[in-house]
Formats: sequence, C-alpha cells, structure tokens
Amino acid sequence: MTRNGNEYDVIIIGAGSMGTSACYQLAKRGIRVLGLEQFDRVHEFGSHTGQSRIIRKAYYEHADYVPLLRRSYELWKELELATRTKLYYKTGILYFGDQDDPVLKGVKYAADSYDVVIDTNPLTETKGFDHIGNIPPGMHSIFEPDAGFVLPEETIRQYSKSAQEYGAVIRYREPVVSWSEGNSGFEVKTNSQTFSCQKLVFTAGSWTSKLIRKYIPDLKVTEQLLTWFFPQDQQTFDISRMPCWFISDKKFGLLYGFPGFTDQQGNFSGVKMARHLPGEIVDPDKRSFTTNHAEMELIRQFVSAYFPKLRDAVVHTKNCLYTNSPDENFIIDFLPEANNNILIACGFSGHGFKFVPVIGEIIADMIEKKSTDLPVDFLSLKRFV
Ligand SMILES: Cc1cc2nc3c(=O)[nH]c(=O)nc-3n(C[C@H](O)[C@H](O)[C@H](O)COP(=O)(O)OP(=O)(O)OC[C@H]3O[C@@H](n4cnc5c(N)ncnc54)[C@H](O)[C@@H]3O)c2cc1C
Repeated sequence: MTRNGNEYDVIIIGAGSMGTSACYQLAKRGIRVLGLEQFDRVHEFGSHTGQSRIIRKAYYEHADYVPLLRRSYELWKELELATRTKLYYKTGILYFGDQDDPVLKGVKYAADSYDVVIDTNPLTETKGFDHIGNIPPGMHSIFEPDAGFVLPEETIRQYSKSAQEYGAVIRYREPVVSWSEGNSGFEVKTNSQTFSCQKLVFTAGSWTSKLIRKYIPDLKVTEQLLTWFFPQDQQTFDISRMPCWFISDKKFGLLYGFPGFTDQQGNFSGVKMARHLPGEIVDPDKRSFTTNHAEMELIRQFVSAYFPKLRDAVVHTKNCLYTNSPDENFIIDFLPEANNNILIACGFSGHGFKFVPVIGEIIADMIEKKSTDLPVDFLSLKRFV
C-alpha cells in the first residue's frame, strides 16, 4: 500500500511499552506501520525504566481486567518462544493487609469472579517470608501462585526487533512535533521530516496530553521513586526463596517489591521496592531527576519495620513516570469525530506493563477491524462523558 517512502498505513506516535507491541502486532498482520520515538529504543525518561514489573491475574483494581490478563499471559509466552528470550519470572505473589483491606478484598473478588487460583491461607509461603520480613501478627495474607515479574526493557527490545523483522519501520530520536488531518489521511511532522498515513495511533505515555488537547480527560503525570536495596546476604532475598509481594499498611500505604535475581550480565539485581501511590505531579519535559527525600525516608522507615535485614543495605534509587487517568483505569478508544481513524491508548496509571502484549493486539484489532473481541468497553472514553 506504500505510495512513497514516507507514506504508511498506520503511524504509531510513541514507540515505548505499548507502541512497540502495537508495531509488532500490526506488522505481523502485513500492515505497513511506522513507529516514531523521540528517544532511544529503551530509555529512562518515560514509564518503562526500572528492570522489572509485577505481573498477576487476581486484579484488585478492577476484575474486568482478568480476561485481558489471560490473553496477555498467552502472548507473553508466545513472545518468549518466538524470541527465545526469558521475559517472565514466575515467583508467585504474597498480598498482606488487614482482613477488610480493599486490596485483599479486591484480589478475592477478582479471583472468585474469574476462577483465578489463589490461596487465602498460605501458611507455607508466609512461613518462608518470615525469614525475610517481619509481618505483624494479625495481618492477613493471600498467595497467588501464577504471578511474578517481567523485564520491561528486554520486552521492548524484543518487540521492536521482531516488529522490524516483520517489516515495521521504527525511527528513534525522532520526536513528533505536530500532526494534522488532511483530505486523504494524516500528516505527521517530526523534527526532521514529514510522514503521512491513513490511521494514527497515540501511545505517547506521559506526553499524550501535549499531543492531543481535545477529547481526552486530564492525565496527571507523576514522578515515582523506585528503590533497590543491596544487602550483604544476597541469598536470603534470592528469587529461589522469596516471591514478589504487596503490603498494604495503614501508616505507609501500599508498597510492593521483588526478590533479588541475577540478571543476564550475571549481576545481582538488588531487592527492589516502591510505594504504589501517585507521587508529585511533573512536566515530563522539565524534570529534575533528583531523589524525593521525604519519600525515601518513608521507605526507610517501612524497611526498618518490615525488612529489618535490609536496614543496613546499600540503596540505589531511580525515578519513573506514572500517567494517571482520573479513575486510574486505562483509556483505549478512538477519538470522537475522526471516523475511527485516530486511536489512543494511554493513562496506564502505574499498572500497565503486564498488559503490554495484549494492548498491542487490541490496537492492531481496532486498527484493522475497527473493533476487538477482547472486552475493553470499560476502558472507553465514554465513561468520562
Ligand atoms: C515506578 C513504576 C513502577 C511500575 N510498576 C509496574 C508493575 O509492577 N507492573 C505493571 O504492570 N506496570 C507497572 N508500571 C506501569 C508501566 O510501566 C506503564 O503503565 C507502562 O510502561 C506505560 O507504557 P506507555 O507505552 O504508556 O509509556 P512509555 O513506555 O513511556 O512509552 C511512551 C513513549 O512515547 C514516546 N513519545 C512521547 N511523546 C512523543 C513524541 N512527541 N514523539 C515521539 N515519541 C514520543 C516516549 O518517549 C515514550 O518512549 C510501573 C510504572 C512505573 C513508573
């Protein structure tokens, strides 16, 4: 369908987590797709930096995500097989909180609604956790065995490489500066040239509101602190002994973390943890990248209370961006008045990475067929009207 070198069927603006997966799915279907990315293939300026992302199915945020997660798990497996790369580490996850805690209640509700396997009295796992952490007596726990973490940077590398093998063109260090609708499609200007296409997809993460000013609700971009603890005794916190976890605490809020593991270069990853609560609102183009000391202090206090063996560990930190929709659910929809030719996938609100493969598939379905069989109605724009 190419008419000249700069004309495409579809242009994807933002080739990060969701954008590269969409490029892959579209190219695999024989659609001529161009992905435009302002930075490098993986980078530290958006939402995908930080080594690991939790993946789980008993979705306390909203049970309707479970069917999407089922499909995502299948697609993670497909990607691993196709690229012969390990991207998913099955560790299980322990949720801790009071009996009436909304996270624990939400986990049970999603598991009951969709038959997700969980253990609501996980004595073996919590006993193992006792050697690592210091869980207050009376706290309840749930174990979800089919959970773990995925590798964000490696996933994006593999998707972009595979997309290119299927014929997608992905241009890096090429920021989109403007876009407009013409008589026969769209024109997209980058810092160096102009492209045209029939359909446009916005997967621009924290920059979405800078590119689309009409129709989308307020997206709050917040800076999140990630911390890594490097203890002397790495064995205690190793993936062979420790699952991922969520701890919902009245004083500290909701924290989550990962076991340590040895990365592909043979280095110990550190024991990573963070608070899941929108941080300070920032402009993604005007960030200081400094550590939020108040947040760090809170995490230190949490570590003293819950993980005393990590108290004296060396600490490393990094910042990453959440793009929060008003209800913290994703937004996947066509923009009104554009005849199903402009699709947006944004507002992943700090919990989107586990969905990367299925979001790519949804985008490809909607672009190719104007709709998808996957149940995404609850993520449409109409809920904000
Ligand atoms: C600290 C932290 C912890 C998280 N933990 C988890 C977790 O445990 N589990 C989980 O499932 N999810 C987690 N997430 C969420 C997940 O990482 C995000 O939801 C996901 O990465 C969002 O993907 P995205 O494609 O919207 O954004 P990105 O991956 O940032 O991609 C957007 C891309 O668009 C590009 N772009 C923007 N504007 C332009 C332009 N004008 N021209 C060209 N390119 C442009 C950007 O450079 C960027 O590469 C976490 C996020 C953070 C920050």
